[in-house]
Amino acid sequence: MTNISFPEPTITAVTQPFWDKINEKQFYLQQCDDCAQWIFYPRAHCPHCFGSKLTWKEASGQGKLKSWSIVHRAGHPAWQGRTPYAVGIVELIEGPSLLTHLLIDEQEICYQLPVEISFQQLNERLLPFFQKKGD
Ligand SMILES: [Zn+2]
Repeated sequence: MTNISFPEPTITAVTQPFWDKINEKQFYLQQCDDCAQWIFYPRAHCPHCFGSKLTWKEASGQGKLKSWSIVHRAGHPAWQGRTPYAVGIVELIEGPSLLTHLLIDEQEICYQLPVEISFQQLNERLLPFFQKKGD
């Protein structure tokens, strides 16, 4: 396969702190100062109480697998060489869920599987993938 770059995340002023921490191999989420809920994806206002006092705090990077899919035909040509691979929705211990790439063998994937973050280099950037806890 020719050398095609992986697509990059779209970074905005609101999401910049998240990606800056990811590049330092740290996993930070916003937490609402008013209602204490953790929030993902990054936003300007709390989706629970509409408060605007959100603070970036280090999160556990741990959760459980809520849903997944095995990709055989990648949506972007850069990913085709990695097929088949898994993507899934991880419910973080802090509450929010996120869609992520899974570094887990298809045979081991199951509902509620404990998972943890794994920082993976793609292009010049680190991305938050998830692996089986303890791997
Ligand atoms: Zn709130």
